[in-house]
Parts: sequence; structure tokens; C-alpha cells
Amino acid sequence: MSEIVKELLYTGKAKDVYKTGNDDEVIIKFRDDITALDGGRKDTLSKKGEYNALISAKLFEVLEEHGVATQYIRLVEHNEMLTKSLEMIPLEVICRNIATGSLLRKYPFHRNQRLDPPVIQFDYKNDVYHDPMLNDSIITALKIATQEELDKIREITHVINKVLYKFLNERGLILVDFKIEFGFDKEGNIVLGDEISPDTTRLWDIETHDNFDKDIFRKGEKGVVDAYHRVVDLVLTEEEKEKWNVEKVEL
Ligand code: C5P
Repeated sequence: MSEIVKELLYTGKAKDVYKTGNDDEVIIKFRDDITALDGGRKDTLSKKGEYNALISAKLFEVLEEHGVATQYIRLVEHNEMLTKSLEMIPLEVICRNIATGSLLRKYPFHRNQRLDPPVIQFDYKNDVYHDPMLNDSIITALKIATQEELDKIREITHVINKVLYKFLNERGLILVDFKIEFGFDKEGNIVLGDEISPDTTRLWDIETHDNFDKDIFRKGEKGVVDAYHRVVDLVLTEEEKEKWNVEKVEL
């Protein structure tokens, strides 16, 4: 644990949030716990937290370089990220480039149909109601966000998708879909928060379409951590891998 960590503020399914000595900053600690199927499948996988923290940090850095405001400040440990405090908006913003997952269970899309423009969907981050899909009218009526804020969130999500799609594609991965979360910083700006990792994205090998993400766990298959390790290997530079002592991938 880093010395900046002071007091546990919040514990989620796979991450903990800690106070620091500075009210404007919190530490997000990525745990090795993994859950799926609305909490119906759970496990603890050594190194998963570390790999997710490294991948999220890298993707947030790439987004910052492209002008997207994120809560990320820096990694302070392999699995701990120093971030700006945000007042989180209880929305799961899902962006899809290819039709798969729950979209196929709910709507008559063809499997792996290309979605261009991407489909953006808002789910309510609410365990009691099992994260139902919302529309703009429900979101504004529930006062989760204003129409103007929603429009802004859509606009930023499109930029995030474009930037990450290209970055990952150049490294041999297809960004199939992902879930992101936003919050307000103390000036009231909408800022990307939480994580972008194989827990929250679908990443396919360009050639084989093999999964490098939580779908492996959802399907009850082995090799989850090896797949996450492979993503670390593909997205980090050699210097970054050396800095964080990432072991070599055995192919
Ligand atoms: O399951 P579904 O197809 O709706 O998931 C779409 C994307 O959103 C996937 O990348 C999945 O990992 C992510 N997601 C998530 N957390 C949820 C629901 C979906 O990270 N609660």
C-alpha cells in the first residue's frame, strides 16, 4: 500500500476508493476480485488488479494526450491510481462498435454486425434495479443529468471511442465495445472517471477474434489473467513494462 492512502471511502465489486491527505484527490485501488453475471459468478485472480490498473492508466494517458479530461493523475503502486476526486454520475455509458453481448440477447442484430455509427447506450448504475437501460427522458426526469450534460457525455464518448479504437487497432486489438463512467470535478466539468480495462471493455484479436477480456470469465473458461497480461504487453511501451516490472508474455 502506498503511504498516501488514508481511509477507505468506498468499496466496489473490484475496486476500493481511499481518502488521501488532500480532499481533491482519492486513491483507486484495483483489487484481484472479479465478478460477472450480476454478481452470480465471483473469483479472485492474482495480478488481475495490477494488470487492470496498468491498462487503465495507459489508456487514460492516451486519452489525456488527445484532449479528453480524465480523473487520472498517476499510478502510485502497481495496483493503485492517484486520481482527482469526482462526484460520480450513476450512469454506465456503453459504446459499441460491433454487435455482441447483451445487444444480441435483446435486439435482432446480426452477431458481430458492424455498428457505424457506434451505438451509445446509458444504463442506470443501480444494483437494486439491476442496471436497467435508460433513455434521455428518464435520465432527465430522474435528475441524473441534464439534457445538455447528456449531449456532452455522448460527444466525449464518441471522441474516446475514436481515439481508443485507433490506438488499440494499431496494437492488434479490436475495440468491440466498452463501458465508461463520468463525474463532475470541483469546477463542475464533466470528467471521465473509473477505469477502462479488460473488465469493462471487449477486446478481440484482429486476426483470430479471440477475446482478451472478461468474456473469458463470463464463459467460465480459464486463462483470464493470461489474456489481461497479453493486453498489458500490447499496450505498454518497453520502458513502461520495465518500470512496473511486467513479466514477459510466454507465447
Ligand atoms: O453485456 P453487454 O454486452 O451489455 O456489455 C457491453 C460492454 O459494457 C462490455 O464491454 C462490458 O464489459 C461492459 N459492461 C461493464 N459493466 C457492466 C455492464 C457492461 O463493464 N455493468
